[in-house]
Amino acid sequence: MVWIGIDDTDSKDGGCTTYICYTIVRKLIENGIDIIGYPRLVRLNPNIPWKTRGNGAVAIRAGRGNGREILIGEFEGEKLFAFTNGSDDVDIAMIENTVKEEVEKQAFLADEKTNPGFVITRKKFDSTIYEQGVKDVLHLNDVIEVLNHAGAVYKGYKNGRGLIGAAAAISWEPGDKTYELISYRYREKWGKERDVEEESVIKMDKTINSTFDNYDYEEKRVLITPNSPCPILFGIRGDKPCDLIKAKEIVISENYMGWMIYETNQGTDDHLQRKKISEVKPYQSVIIEGTVDREPFTIEGGHVIFSIGDETGSIDCTAYEPTKGFRDIIRKLKKGDRVEVYGGVREKPFTINIEKIRIKNLSTVRVKVENPVCEKCGIHMKSMGKGKGYRCKRCGSTKDEKDARYEILDRDLKEGFYEVPPCARRHLSKPLKRMVC
Ligand SMILES: [Zn+2]
Repeated sequence: MVWIGIDDTDSKDGGCTTYICYTIVRKLIENGIDIIGYPRLVRLNPNIPWKTRGNGAVAIRAGRGNGREILIGEFEGEKLFAFTNGSDDVDIAMIENTVKEEVEKQAFLADEKTNPGFVITRKKFDSTIYEQGVKDVLHLNDVIEVLNHAGAVYKGYKNGRGLIGAAAAISWEPGDKTYELISYRYREKWGKERDVEEESVIKMDKTINSTFDNYDYEEKRVLITPNSPCPILFGIRGDKPCDLIKAKEIVISENYMGWMIYETNQGTDDHLQRKKISEVKPYQSVIIEGTVDREPFTIEGGHVIFSIGDETGSIDCTAYEPTKGFRDIIRKLKKGDRVEVYGGVREKPFTINIEKIRIKNLSTVRVKVENPVCEKCGIHMKSMGKGKGYRCKRCGSTKDEKDARYEILDRDLKEGFYEVPPCARRHLSKPLKRMVC
């Protein structure tokens, strides 16, 4: 089959790379080219400062289809099908024209941060491109070398940075994967308020168990609708494509143009890598195991910071204000707790932006509840200063620090995994609902 990758066509003012993907899929089918498998929505490194919004690229597989037909979407009442298998016996030039036309018509080229790119290739790239694109930083020159080596057809607009995501999306080799059904609004509705009934989203969330991140119950917020003026009406995420079609039927909303299902790396934790503290670099996403060596404190803006250490060093970890109630868990951490922190690394300040935490072992915290009593005088002794023991103010006899009465602090915290609320979750973060722990 032939691989098509597209990235970086949107801007904060609108547009959407998945919408371009949707229109290309429809046009290819109209022109007699088959789609193979679900189109793919591939999220890349969420810590890259120059990303547009979600840092998502798309990939489409096209060709001469064979095998079983699968329903992948609908356009104005007409069903869109893909095939489970296919050959690459198709005219690349025709595919190129369709892709080029849609990208040039729809990309937000005027936005200085929008640098679109598309790639078309018969030869799939090695998955290391994806691995690096999701976990680290890819450089355009290296990507172009791969494209040339594979004999790919490609075009980068402006600084051409979109080629990076386009190539990375093609090279994704799904291990874990999820699906997202995205519905698209009629053009006249773009930029206007979305009409999606909250109650129906809650009902869908409670009915279709294989979906996730539909609604934030703590914040009472619908999460399937985006906040940008893009063509998307809503996106429902889940583990089973057939359930997503059922889920969409439950959601009550304005009429929409159609929908498409994407295979995606969202909710997979593909961006994370286990590291020792000394190996951590800005823009990576990491899993670090360590012991709390500085207790949590809250700074202006409501962000909660603590630090953990391992045998190689110590690093700050931050639960930012938008993580809301999650910060209450973090505030309960004490020195000596053994934890595993999951999150993206910020450069300035150098800190881990926590997405999830696993509390592996709670330390025993003893708190002094009573000073020792003088055996001769029967009164409480006075402290002579921290760690210096106690003295009876009447007779002058002394006792050690350990002679005071201590109780073990009730930690009011359990070992296990804790995650940020759905409203603060990153696209790539695996919800605990999907984890076998
Ligand atoms: Zn005494």
